[in-house]
Amino acid sequence: MTFEAVTTFLRKIAPLMSLTKKELELLSTPKKVLQSELDVNGKKYSAYHVQFNDARGPFKGGIRYHPDVDLDEVTSLAFWMALKTAVADIPFGGGKGGVTVNPKELSSHEIEGLSRQFVRAFHEHLGPTKDIPAPDVYTTPQIMAWMLDEFEKITGEHAPGMITGKPLELGGSLVRDIATALGGVYVLEEAIKKIGLEEKTVAVQGFGNAGMNMAKLLFEKGFKILAVSDSQGGIFDSNGLDITELIRVKKETGSVVNYSGTKITNKELLVTGCSILIPSALSGVITTENASAVKAKIILELANGPTTSSADDILHKNNVLVLPDILSNSGGVTVSYFEWIQNMYGYYWDEETVKKRLKEKMVTAFSGIWNMYSQNEHDFRTNTYIVAIRKILTAEKLRGMV
Ligand code: NAD
Repeated sequence: MTFEAVTTFLRKIAPLMSLTKKELELLSTPKKVLQSELDVNGKKYSAYHVQFNDARGPFKGGIRYHPDVDLDEVTSLAFWMALKTAVADIPFGGGKGGVTVNPKELSSHEIEGLSRQFVRAFHEHLGPTKDIPAPDVYTTPQIMAWMLDEFEKITGEHAPGMITGKPLELGGSLVRDIATALGGVYVLEEAIKKIGLEEKTVAVQGFGNAGMNMAKLLFEKGFKILAVSDSQGGIFDSNGLDITELIRVKKETGSVVNYSGTKITNKELLVTGCSILIPSALSGVITTENASAVKAKIILELANGPTTSSADDILHKNNVLVLPDILSNSGGVTVSYFEWIQNMYGYYWDEETVKKRLKEKMVTAFSGIWNMYSQNEHDFRTNTYIVAIRKILTAEKLRGMV
């Protein structure tokens, strides 16, 4: 999604919050934009690191390796991170990194070289109290381990808190692997209680880290998962899919479409007859073209930016509760924060402790926004943005920046 599209929403709600021109400018301007060119065996790759806002704490956000990465995308993602850490109420700001590369075309040795170079290019700007990266699309715990190692070689000190999403053996946190989905489950359970939703039928678009874990967790809780999809298409069963079997099929054959059930397209999945829709793959999939055909009562956005701004208006009018990305998928960054705390203390928590603290954070964030939402006419996303922006601006004001 372009940075222009991302900030459109900010401009839309600026009058509701009576934002001054200076405040709006501060919120829509990255603090620092860093660029470099990385070289692997003579091939050059563009690398970006955007530090958007650190009024509330060190910059925080993942590093993405993807052929479509460009400065505009990294800037959008860094902006979202600033809002997300504010919504989750964790003491971080927002940043993001990216390299324009298709890692599938590189050997493991070349990916290691690229990752070490990324750290060499930007190390002066990184660190446990400056900027703490994490995995994102096509970056893994192993890549975090190489980046940590390179950083520690440069600084000559152990600093596990400089990066999160690490393997457990290097200071990673339990639950980090399912944190995004589990955080989404906690938000969804609260929303279901608030609106008194009785039918619990679900469609999940995307069957990767976010979507697959979400389908698994909800299946284990007794929700009926009617449809799931991946890049090859979707599968539907009105009696409910067996998610354990589906995960086996996906792992063995590479796609959910090889599971026995009615084949549907990704477009059909979005308007399928279910009470809960969970987009967990791409941005911009719910638009003015299909929003009025959505039958779900709740949309839980695990993907970043799956709903366009004008689709939002239609959904709100149709009484569909849209639980926005910056709240719904903030479980990942919340457990990253827990990982950082454990690194800084050198004291590690058990699984139950991480889950309990994640639940507390997600329920508190949801409840605060729900209280506002139930007292005004704005949709849930608008209320969520208002909460995030207020927190960032309060910190900026206290620092004398506005
Ligand atoms: P992933 O790469 O593990 O999985 C992506 C899934 O989407 C795959 O199943 C893929 O087949 C599917 N997909 C790709 N193209 C598709 C298409 N055209 N139609 C339908 N499905 C398609 O990625 P992920 O980590 O699960 O991330 C998914 C979304 O969630 C992204 O928007 C990401 O930014 C967001 N997100 C993820 C996390 C996390 O911790 N994993 C955290 C925050 C936000």
